[in-house]
Amino acid sequence: MDKIATPKKTKEIVQQYQFKFSKSLGQNFLIDENILNKIVEGADITKEDYVIEVGPGIGSLTQYIAERAKALTAIEIDKSLIPILQNTLQGYDNVEVIHEDVLKVDIKELIKEKFHGAKVKVIGNLPYYVTTPIIMRFLEEKVPMTSMTIMIQQEVAQRMEAKPSTKDYGALSVAVQYYCNPKILLKVPPSVFIPQPKVDSTVIRLDVLDKPKVHVEKEKLFFATVKDAFGKRRKTLLNALSTGSLGFDKDLVRQALGAAGIDEKRRGETLTIEEFATLANEFAARL
Ligand code: SAM
Repeated sequence: MDKIATPKKTKEIVQQYQFKFSKSLGQNFLIDENILNKIVEGADITKEDYVIEVGPGIGSLTQYIAERAKALTAIEIDKSLIPILQNTLQGYDNVEVIHEDVLKVDIKELIKEKFHGAKVKVIGNLPYYVTTPIIMRFLEEKVPMTSMTIMIQQEVAQRMEAKPSTKDYGALSVAVQYYCNPKILLKVPPSVFIPQPKVDSTVIRLDVLDKPKVHVEKEKLFFATVKDAFGKRRKTLLNALSTGSLGFDKDLVRQALGAAGIDEKRRGETLTIEEFATLANEFAARL
């Protein structure tokens, strides 16, 4: 099959269908075969794999996945792309395109229906305006999946992978690393898209853990502790945690920090995910 992801072919398709790019839907289409090869290789797709693609666009990445996977369901929000995809992907009988908003579709039900509940691999050159909500939705809902291989803004990828005491380390790093092992695969310049985005992009692979990295008694309390600790980055933990959304007084925070073996003068950005878990569990024991 002819490749969709060349500058010539992409321009041809756009013209033929008089397609209008929507900035608000984050539409930047890949036109570089080398990058596409690297994405599917990085995702490690085999003939055994069921794949969910988020935002197929005109099918540039979809085609590469279809050639390697057992079956693939692609979820696209833009109605005007559906007839285009029906045409560009017509040679592949293992692909199904559905017209839905990935943030609204019942993804677990969809996996049950299409793939009999088997674990999937998720892939996507994500629309940057909703990168984090899409990823967090899949993780928090515990969608049955082994990995997410996604193209996102470089700075968001760096935050996901960041380690304690670095400038990029924050609530997003802890949330992602609670569920996954993140690994940056490659950096991607704006020149490989039509139209070109304003930011640099990165392909990151999130290998989903069988169970969360740390044991926490109450997940909500754990995430609220993390949020408060990073909410006021310049404050000591004692101050940040006794003036945030948790509503705990200084005495209780001091006791919990002491029991967790964490110096109250430290700042949130120095805590490892294990320390956050120990601290949140000490809070849970004092409720
Ligand atoms: N996969 C194509 C590629 O690599 O060339 C297109 C990627 S483009 C960056 C993002 C795609 O996601 C667009 O096709 C856009 O219409 C779609 N999209 C945006 N928001 C979406 C949502 N909430 N649900 C599903 N698809 C969405």
